[in-house]
Amino acid sequence: MSYGMVTQPDPRLRIRSSPVEVSAIASERMQTFFKELTETMNLERGVGIAAPQVGIHERVIIVDTGSGVHTFVNPEIIDRSHRTVNSEEGCLSVPGVWGIVKRNKTVKVKALNKDGQPVELDVDGLTAIIFQHEIDHLDGVLFIDRVEKFTSPPLNNRL
Ligand code: ZN
Repeated sequence: MSYGMVTQPDPRLRIRSSPVEVSAIASERMQTFFKELTETMNLERGVGIAAPQVGIHERVIIVDTGSGVHTFVNPEIIDRSHRTVNSEEGCLSVPGVWGIVKRNKTVKVKALNKDGQPVELDVDGLTAIIFQHEIDHLDGVLFIDRVEKFTSPPLNNRL
């Protein structure tokens, strides 16, 4: 099963998502949700997706890290480089729109994995951008809020 995408200007994209209780991560409901959110991302051919994009306001994101597609629960950016990059982004929830967003070049992310174990990752390149974009979704922030210049035609990065 997969979900339908919530798209701009749906107000559900603007709701701040709640942290997931650690004890709930192993539940069948949550494990099924991780699978279905991943399926939705794959179906939409995205490289990342956040729960509010399917109308669920829990702090869960799926990220294609380049070495596989992984679930991150309660992700937080705990450190970021001063150096920034201009990232050309689109969003599954903002169809047909692309633009340049300034992002930190590298970030350190702290989260729980799908088994509830703590993980810490230092990421850069596209993966760092995906984490920043998806964690923004959990706070009700869209890339169009940060865009410096809208672009066309786009790259293939559909976050
Ligand atoms: Zn997005």
